[in-house]
Amino acid sequence: MTGAMGSLLAQQSVSPSAGHWAIEVHGGAGIIQRSAMTPEGDAAYRASLAQAIGAGAKVLDQGGSSLDAVEAVIKVLEDDPLFNAGRGSVFTANGKNELDAAIMDGSNLEVGAVAGVTGTRHPISLARAVMEKSPHVMLIGTGADAFSVQSGLEQVDPGFFFTESRWQSLVSQLKKEGRPVPPRPTGTPPPKPVVPVAQIDESPNAHNYGTVGVVALDRLGNVAAGTSTGGLQGKMPGRVGDSPIIGAGTYASNQSCAVSATGSGEYFIRLGVAREVCNLVAFKGLSLQQAADKVIHIELETLHGDGGVIALSQDGQLAWSFNTPGMFRARQREDNKLQISIYNDEP
Ligand code: ASP
Repeated sequence: MTGAMGSLLAQQSVSPSAGHWAIEVHGGAGIIQRSAMTPEGDAAYRASLAQAIGAGAKVLDQGGSSLDAVEAVIKVLEDDPLFNAGRGSVFTANGKNELDAAIMDGSNLEVGAVAGVTGTRHPISLARAVMEKSPHVMLIGTGADAFSVQSGLEQVDPGFFFTESRWQSLVSQLKKEGRPVPPRPTGTPPPKPVVPVAQIDESPNAHNYGTVGVVALDRLGNVAAGTSTGGLQGKMPGRVGDSPIIGAGTYASNQSCAVSATGSGEYFIRLGVAREVCNLVAFKGLSLQQAADKVIHIELETLHGDGGVIALSQDGQLAWSFNTPGMFRARQREDNKLQISIYNDEP
């Protein structure tokens, strides 16, 4: 067989990593500097990443699907107040939490996404419910919240997502920018001093890191991707970032790659970052690392966007790339050592 069909079939059948799983996780990119991080903060982030990726490795090691692994890891990170997803999400300019998430199955291009949700403990599970139990690929706001109840997913009060450090970070950003500070949400514990784990840059152009994302490859050779976030701190109510936009912040296809992004979402949407990485692999013959680097260090930087991606392909390539001082990240292949990194001077 010759031509495009021949190479497509060859791509489908040749998988050097057949039978071996792999997984990569990010916990957001941004102004994350060694000099600004306390030793306790550094250790806490590494421990959280290890625990989260462990949940996914367990699923994959028991022969579970990449989709299940992605959801399992993100649920752990959504419950972890260190990250800007689920509990610990950043606040909108009017002091609310509006959460976005997406999940994609690379074996069949099935997708589920939600934006601006307010009452679901695990937005990633709501995204999965949209994929599996609705005829749609994306639900937003009140409709998504109602579908969550209807699907029997765990509901929480808005106060569940509240953390003192994110609140104080919002107040300080809004004051610095001369914007009105909303009243402290009712039902939250009285204000108390926060011991920061890191000095967070709150300048108007620095987004507050902590979005979470996962890409995984299972033993059947199927890839999947998922991303979950509170979005950008101080965002306008109703703003949606790249994370739930398929092709921008999240994408997965067995034919090319799986990607989860983090960074200034408006730029990632303009470039269709996640799909762009996969297209460079599928149609330009770039390695996964070359493709990720080209999109982040050339295309994104040309627009002055900041952030990064994690990516993985069916043939077992793993890549990450970011143009910020740090990106919380971890990766593991079957039978290989777990790698956890934070700063840009680490591999
Ligand atoms: N990309 C996310 C958004 O724009 C934020 C982040 O990754 O930090 O909503």
